[in-house]
Amino acid sequence: MRIAEIYLGNLAYNIAQIRNNLRPGVKICAAVKADAYGHGAVRCAKTVIECGVEFLSVATVDEGIELREAGISHPILVLSLCDAEEMDALVKNNLTPLVGDVEYIDLIEKAAKKIFNSKSEKNSEGAISANQEKFIVHLAVDTGMGRIGCLPCDAKDLAKKIAASQFISLGGVCTHFASADETSKKYRDFAQSQVEKFSAAINSIRAEKIDAGIVHCSSSAALLDRPEWQFNMVRPGIILYGYNAGKITSEYLSQKGIKFDIKPVMALVTNVSALRHFTKGMSVSYGCTWTSDKETKIAVLPIGYADGLLCRSSPGIEVAINGKKYPVRGRVCMDQCMAEIGMKSDVKRFDRAVIFGPEESGALCTAQDLADAQGTIPYEILTCVSKRVKRVYL
Ligand SMILES: *Cc1c(COP(=O)(O)O)cnc(C)c1O
Repeated sequence: MRIAEIYLGNLAYNIAQIRNNLRPGVKICAAVKADAYGHGAVRCAKTVIECGVEFLSVATVDEGIELREAGISHPILVLSLCDAEEMDALVKNNLTPLVGDVEYIDLIEKAAKKIFNSKSEKNSEGAISANQEKFIVHLAVDTGMGRIGCLPCDAKDLAKKIAASQFISLGGVCTHFASADETSKKYRDFAQSQVEKFSAAINSIRAEKIDAGIVHCSSSAALLDRPEWQFNMVRPGIILYGYNAGKITSEYLSQKGIKFDIKPVMALVTNVSALRHFTKGMSVSYGCTWTSDKETKIAVLPIGYADGLLCRSSPGIEVAINGKKYPVRGRVCMDQCMAEIGMKSDVKRFDRAVIFGPEESGALCTAQDLADAQGTIPYEILTCVSKRVKRVYL
């Protein structure tokens, strides 16, 4: 057995925690990109919508189409740039792109013109709504992330270009922080400089009497740490799924007087497929990197790196079986790994074994613990849980 249990109640709980920390009227744009950080985009999107989230965000056009085909009609931001051949589908499915240069705006305008001029396509499923006069885009301003968006000094001209278009309109303006999840002065100063450039860009647009629409910049880290940067909308991702962004931990926030308690949403669960009796001197897995120094028992678990248990993590993973933690020994294989349970444990064949998850799953580790042991971040642990691990919604 290899499953990912998704505790949707915890997702709803986390949304409520976020909402508690927002200023009145601030919208939430929930990141459900990368299959909702591995949790399953459609189910998670439907849950967060039930919780009152106003916007969703994805990385690709295909991810947006998956949500539209599941009947979701909320606004969906596409956070990464799309290819030329995706533009028609982007517009047809009424997905909202981030734009930041003239050429890209022209391509989107062309696609919008084509769709608006063809009535039959306009009325197809998930399409631009009939009463919508223009296709909405958000202007991305690069204030220091160096990824997408225009320079702050070019924001005004691009906003003018969009405002003058017959087919597209400006629904919002955004930027993205490069170091908001750090707490040292150097990084805080950098984030501060980003928000100042962003504010200047917004002001330059408004000075042209152009409505900037929904102004948004904060992902998980900044929205809690810097409530004054919430503007009209925030874009949480990792905190929806129960993990803190970088150094913005619950302890750090509580020192600042911010109450924020979130719960992991995913549990990665397997079971014991066999128990092996080892005498002293027997080795485990490829490379024989671990050898028993005494008589012991080994539990074989049918989960490996092809399921998302990163192979660089061995040793380092501990698995919870019947309320106790046992260390994984030797290298993690593609489809299996082995844990040492010792001579005295009561572990039986087919007992449930939890790699990480919320307390109620029986887990004794979180994805943060795994990430720490492996020199990575919970984002990677969660998004690496592969397709063959069935998502079970609870
Ligand atoms: C992924 C992403 C987010 C969410 O980030 P978290 O750190 O998971 O909160 C927000 N905005 C943009 C542009 C992103 O790419």
